[in-house]
Amino acid sequence: MGSIAIRMVQHFFYCPHRWGLLEIDRAWAENYFVVKADLLHKRTHDPEKSYTIRGKKVFTDVPVWNDQPEYDLYGVTDCLEATRDANGVTIDDSGETYRQCLVEYKPTKPKDRDFHPEDAMQLYEQKLCVDSVFGGDCDAVLYYADVQKRIPVPLREQKEAFDKTLKDALMQMRRYEEAGVIPPIRKGQKCSGCSMKDLCMPKSGKKKSLRDEIAACLREDTV
Ligand code: SF4
Repeated sequence: MGSIAIRMVQHFFYCPHRWGLLEIDRAWAENYFVVKADLLHKRTHDPEKSYTIRGKKVFTDVPVWNDQPEYDLYGVTDCLEATRDANGVTIDDSGETYRQCLVEYKPTKPKDRDFHPEDAMQLYEQKLCVDSVFGGDCDAVLYYADVQKRIPVPLREQKEAFDKTLKDALMQMRRYEEAGVIPPIRKGQKCSGCSMKDLCMPKSGKKKSLRDEIAACLREDTV
């Protein structure tokens, strides 16, 4: 397995089985939540909407990556703000230096007025990529559209924990991918809002994907 898209890591954190259906079975289904998130991202991911406000440059749709072997991640940031700062990084050939702030948009509301852990993980992955591309140490916040509020995430303070969780997940994803196996449904998995429910049928007792079933049939045929 080569580079991994940040959005696929999010699927894995939400539900490893869902990630497997998408990445290994190449299945896909949309629902209200998927469409809403898609619309919000389309509105923010518009390169034509990069602008400057009160000395702050705002860029949308910025491709970023981190090709260190332990990560090998890539993605697109919703919004990257740059404010002039003598201790910042260069972002163009103007010779100016800037402090960067990464903003990830969520079409939901915070959890008990705080961020959702999986959203924080996504922000951590994006920060790894932004810092790798620009060579700085950017700030990072989540923006929850339902309450129109920014929530900072202590990525620096809890770097060790975020890093360990991410590396564990990436290792598992690569192992499943190499083996061509879809992870089983996690015990206690929350399925509300999942667009794959009709394909997955989590309560039906069906735990195997189509690919697993075919593989099982082929094995039986060769016995
Ligand atoms: S329905 Fe539940 S178990 Fe199935 S893919 Fe969605 S979240 Fe995972």
